[in-house]
Amino acid sequence: MSSSNTKHIFITGGVVSSLGKGITAASLANLLKGRGYNVQMQKLDPYLNVDPGTMSPFQHGEVFVTDDGAETDLDLGHYERFADITCTKNSNYTSGKIYSNVIARERRGGYLGGTVQVVPHITNEIKDAISSCREEGVDIVITEIGGTAGDIESLPYLEAIRQFRKDIGKKNGVFVHLTLLPYLKAAGEMKTKPAQQSANMLRGIGIVPDVLICRCEKPMEPEHFEKLSIFCNVEEEMIIEEQDVAHSVYEVPVELAKQGLDEKILRQLDLPVNKLDIKPWEDLIERVINCESFDEVEVAVVGKYTSLKDAYKSIYEAIDHAGISNKCHVKVRQVEAEDIENKGVEEVLGGVSAILVPGGFGDRGVEGKIEAIRYARENNIPFFGICLGMQCTVIEYSRNVAGLKDANSVEFNAETPFPVIDLMLEQKEVVDMGGTMRLGAYDCTLKEGTLAKKLYSSTQISERHRHRYEFNNKYQDVLEENGLVFSGVYTHGQLCEIVELPNHPYFIACQFHPEFKSRPLTAHPIFHGFIEAAVKKSKTK
Ligand code: GLN
Repeated sequence: MSSSNTKHIFITGGVVSSLGKGITAASLANLLKGRGYNVQMQKLDPYLNVDPGTMSPFQHGEVFVTDDGAETDLDLGHYERFADITCTKNSNYTSGKIYSNVIARERRGGYLGGTVQVVPHITNEIKDAISSCREEGVDIVITEIGGTAGDIESLPYLEAIRQFRKDIGKKNGVFVHLTLLPYLKAAGEMKTKPAQQSANMLRGIGIVPDVLICRCEKPMEPEHFEKLSIFCNVEEEMIIEEQDVAHSVYEVPVELAKQGLDEKILRQLDLPVNKLDIKPWEDLIERVINCESFDEVEVAVVGKYTSLKDAYKSIYEAIDHAGISNKCHVKVRQVEAEDIENKGVEEVLGGVSAILVPGGFGDRGVEGKIEAIRYARENNIPFFGICLGMQCTVIEYSRNVAGLKDANSVEFNAETPFPVIDLMLEQKEVVDMGGTMRLGAYDCTLKEGTLAKKLYSSTQISERHRHRYEFNNKYQDVLEENGLVFSGVYTHGQLCEIVELPNHPYFIACQFHPEFKSRPLTAHPIFHGFIEAAVKKSKTK
């Protein structure tokens, strides 16, 4: 049901990409939540892929999965982590999705033979996408427009938000423009011209920003505010400085709060400026900043997209959260699984205090991951496997402990004599396979007396999935006889969700992706336990 008094904030970016629009949007959401408002967030991406599900992590970073099973842009991860909100499938639209909706409607005769055009049909579809976040109880929707002002492909979005704001009025919608003040070393000066030009570009489309947030390396001087105010047509007090932060991106909300960003926006939206409650967040920053006395542990992440740090964004964030909750500093050794195959496991993993094998697709590096798991198991090194990491755990145990020679996943070897990871019949009953995956949140029941149960302190959990293959239940008996414990199963069917080893300091692997639900203030229990075990291990070395 849609709510009629929902307010809107639109965030655009100028000058260059990678300005941190997602983090700025998420930080604003954090503050508005801290003022007692119920916030929903949304990213509109101008590219033509229908969703980021099929995009390479090398190009686009990780695919973030929502509870309701949407494969989305990784900015939604920032939204969830900073503002502790739950995004939905309405939180991410791409031009591909918008256009395919419009074209499908045209094919069904939905436009009664009229000429279908970018304006008004695509722009109306975008406006509907924005409205889709106006759910009951949502006070404020923050919509981030991907891309940079001036991009050809962003134009329909800018036109749509211009119209949207015109429809709802200035008291119900705010335009925030994030821009860059580059520092020219040779001139020893920070320049406002590019920011003026990006605001100019927006003005050409009919958007005058209400708030200008300036990303900069150095502090802004009064003359910068004056110039920007005059040339961008923005009130001086509505110009906010967003300097690079020293320690952690989680400092951004606190820095923005110091300049009253949230308060200024609430005033424009005619909403009460309730007291800001971000004490736990400030304490968190305190801990991040004053971490010199913390122990340092080194943890290996054995993957195949390690050259791009965004490819495992949520995993690194979850590790960070667990570092904070364990009061330790975690150094991550990013390991290419193939290096293990080529150089040997000891050479590549020697000396680490814990090993994590994340999710992935395709067979490149799989044997290296399996080797890393054997190494962790045999040497009592804390181990945590996620999704493909769990599938590799089962393969390793089947081959090296249960004697199922050449056991494999049918994803990597369709002819394997022991398909311990396969497409499951039961799975076909609970999800529509149709070439797709098990996506989104599923309930899981944990077995009493297991590590999983101890970590979660609950027998009922819900975690997010994104995979096609499953553990093949035919092999449960033989693996159990050989000591592998199946500690979590899908609550409404026979799907294995967690395996673990009891006689090991920490050895657990899950079919789901726990990293998506970790928060800075509440580290995920499996990550917390993992880093705790790593600290113990580092002390016994
Ligand atoms: N490739 C595996 C599957 O599809 C694992 C996927 C993943 O790790 N997300 O089941």
